[in-house]
Amino acid sequence: MTLTEFLLDRIAEDESVAREAHYDGQRWVPEEEAVVAADRDLDPLLYLDRKRDARHAANWSPARVLAECEAKRQIIEEHRNPEGTEWCLRCVEHDGEDTPYPCPTLRALATTIYTDHPDYRDEWRP
Ligand SMILES: [Zn+2]
Repeated sequence: MTLTEFLLDRIAEDESVAREAHYDGQRWVPEEEAVVAADRDLDPLLYLDRKRDARHAANWSPARVLAECEAKRQIIEEHRNPEGTEWCLRCVEHDGEDTPYPCPTLRALATTIYTDHPDYRDEWRP
């Protein structure tokens, strides 16, 4: 499995989870937000913690996750290696040097997000 294949598989998994969420395309109201709204008798500090958690969950709507999946695919497409080469097309255009493939951009994308995945390989670390 190449790093590109690994990234595209992870993105497809994230996209699948987002598409399975109950979302009407208008407003994202995760279950946690409803729990917080109904449980105002909690300890004030615990209530604040839950409210922050709910705000975070609300920020990661399925629409945002799908948009981020598309952005990651565009980054991967831009940082591809032409067939038969061992260098990154985008990085060589930008830096003027042959950047070995996978380039630091793709390595960072995999390492910062998916390093805990069992298929992640240490050799992909930047
Ligand atoms: Zn690159």
